[in-house]
Amino acid sequence: MASESVKVVIRCRPLNDREKVLSCKLVVSVDASHCQCFIEKPGAAEEPPKQFTFDGTYFINQTTEQMYNEIAYPLVEGVTEGYNGTIFAYGQTGSGKSFTMQGVADPPAQRGVIPRAFEHIFETIQCSEDTKFLVRASYLEIYKEEIRDLLGKDTKQKLELKEHPERGVYVRDLSMHTVHSVAECERIMEIGWKNRSVGYTLMNKDSSRSHSIFTIHLEICNTDAAGKDHLRAGKLNLVDLAGSERQSKTGATGDRLQEATKINLSLSALGNVISALVDGRSKHIPYRDSKLTRLLQDSLGGNTRTLMVACLSPADNNYEESLSTLRYANRAKSIQNRPRINEDPKDALLREYQEEIKQLRALISGQLGTASLNLSALLASQKSEAALALQSRPQSSTVESEAEKEKIKQEYEEKLARLQADYNAEQESKAKLQEDITVLRTSYEIKLSSLESSKASRAHTTADNSCIEEVSPLNGSTPEPSHAAQEEIKEDECSQESSIRVSPGGEPVVVATPGPLDQKHVLERLQQLEQEFVGGEQARNEELRQRRRQRKTLANQRKKQLIEALRQGSEDGDSVLLNVYDSIQEEIHAKNKLLENMQNKLKAAKLEIRDLQAEFETERDDYLATIRRLERETQLQQAILERMVGLVRRDCNYSNLDRLRKEAVWDEESSVWRLPEVLVQKTALPAVPPSAVSSSSRLPARRNSASDSAEPFMEQEDRYKEMLNRSDSEHIASNYFRKKRTTPLFAGDAMVVMD
Ligand code: ADP
Ligand code: MG
Repeated sequence: MASESVKVVIRCRPLNDREKVLSCKLVVSVDASHCQCFIEKPGAAEEPPKQFTFDGTYFINQTTEQMYNEIAYPLVEGVTEGYNGTIFAYGQTGSGKSFTMQGVADPPAQRGVIPRAFEHIFETIQCSEDTKFLVRASYLEIYKEEIRDLLGKDTKQKLELKEHPERGVYVRDLSMHTVHSVAECERIMEIGWKNRSVGYTLMNKDSSRSHSIFTIHLEICNTDAAGKDHLRAGKLNLVDLAGSERQSKTGATGDRLQEATKINLSLSALGNVISALVDGRSKHIPYRDSKLTRLLQDSLGGNTRTLMVACLSPADNNYEESLSTLRYANRAKSIQNRPRINEDPKDALLREYQEEIKQLRALISGQLGTASLNLSALLASQKSEAALALQSRPQSSTVESEAEKEKIKQEYEEKLARLQADYNAEQESKAKLQEDITVLRTSYEIKLSSLESSKASRAHTTADNSCIEEVSPLNGSTPEPSHAAQEEIKEDECSQESSIRVSPGGEPVVVATPGPLDQKHVLERLQQLEQEFVGGEQARNEELRQRRRQRKTLANQRKKQLIEALRQGSEDGDSVLLNVYDSIQEEIHAKNKLLENMQNKLKAAKLEIRDLQAEFETERDDYLATIRRLERETQLQQAILERMVGLVRRDCNYSNLDRLRKEAVWDEESSVWRLPEVLVQKTALPAVPPSAVSSSSRLPARRNSASDSAEPFMEQEDRYKEMLNRSDSEHIASNYFRKKRTTPLFAGDAMVVMD
């Protein structure tokens, strides 16, 4: 398996307004043809600028379009062939990460990498021949080491990371959304983006403090000349990282400090993973140190093609951060990945769907048998929801069509209600809601009118015996309802038809032969399943194909240029030594020049060592300061705890801190402490004679049942009772003996008195 290094490009944004007002100077410059980037230390003109070489350098006036076509294009193309790919943006806050990943609509050349990738993937899908794709998208966010689903029903819910021997690391319960077009992808991205930023503006926070990962999952089914299917799967991760600046510098405390240390934790874990991978000697790669590195495990030293876009500010007042970004990026480019095509994925949904389609087809053709009905016609008519839908069902009666009508109406009402509820929950704009209602109503009306017209034309039933396999509903021109409405419909149908399924192992589930109504369901399910796939819609669009060829050629040319530039750079020194010279003078001159070059390099290396040491010191101080602050924070917690522990009842296990500490277990998998259950234990002393103790003070024997643990805090009244009990019980020992003696004494006295 060939290995390839992580591709790294840098992108330097223009000076922003603030920097212009401050009359900041540009300290970053690039030599695009040699992919080199230079950074000058402000106020140290005598020092040579630091120099870095990358796989691409994009300066202030270059566009995302150019960057995408030159470097991202081959990576995304690979995903459509079954490779995994990751593109991530790194850099300090405000350096242009979101500008690069999300981009802006105007000018179009600055549209981001994410929308470009959507367009690219769908273009490839539509141009492909003999290939069907199942495209799904997910969008998550890591904030303070907690994973949230930006497209889930509850975006506040924390999700868990899991590891599977074949699937690798994955997020449990992360929602996946089937997408059929660029517009659907864009809508999903928008929803997620809104969930991301709205959440934090409400809390007065900034999205630059969280990492977000948009993933496009592709399942690819290619049919070869012999008619055999080949399955592959590709995944594209598009990552917008949190700002890389040292957050702890700000002297944050409390929540802010916790946030800062956790952001730092993820990013320094990412840095450590990169260092360990580059180092080559370390066997242990600390992927498990943070959620981010676990999720990106495949992208760093794994089977993924990875591109890192390091974003920079050119201003002198950001020198430190820009230099640190450049160093980070420089290290990352030495990481070796081993990309390979994911063939025959075990858990492919596409395979499940195909099996189910096969089953459904067999089921229907079995039932239809030799009757002069045609499945293709049925499917085609179902697909287009045209008037012919019911023509192929001559047996349907008026009563049935009435029932049908009622059902459609019901369906419509149900969907409408659900849509409204959803939208209320999402607080979507009224306009959107209106739009979707209109679409739904139109589809309802179409269905109704189709039913009406089918009644009229029932006499003209046609039957056509063409081959079943030739039906391709994807090429049909179904009037598309809006995405939300579409999703609703799909979900609805999915849940309706879940009884007709294929078991996870691929074993067909025995399904009874459908009756006339079932048959309709089966057809609907079949049609719905076939609509999940996309591919080949524009296979004959010569213009599109031509454009694709051009883009591929451009990307290839660019690759060749890059190789040439890098080769030239490394050959300079060698050629001086190997050259044959006409005269001694010429040779001395050339060698002197080489010496001078070497001396400059040596000087630069020495300066670099000095700077690195200084940086290391600063970083260490920074870590120490964080540790000190965290220690203070821990001390505060400890002090509060110690005060509070005195208030906990003695017979509760939470009154003993040391014991609790011993019993607490760290759960590596979910990174949480598992604490013991709250228990209340009472000690029973030997029974006291009935006469000695009032019935109310009798103690129950050992209470530590589950119901006890379920009542960690007692009601006020209960507590008083317990206190009374306890005060009685504390005197049991003395009561035990005293009462025995005093009773006869009193008795004697009484007798005396009586006497
Ligand atoms: P980040 O996500 O890294 O915090 P942003 O992408 O939000 O930073 O960029 C900060 C600001 O700089 C935005 O206003 C953005 O429009 C602008 N910007 C970033 N990169 C560029 C660029 N290459 N050209 C023009 N403006 C840019
Ligand atoms: Mg951002």
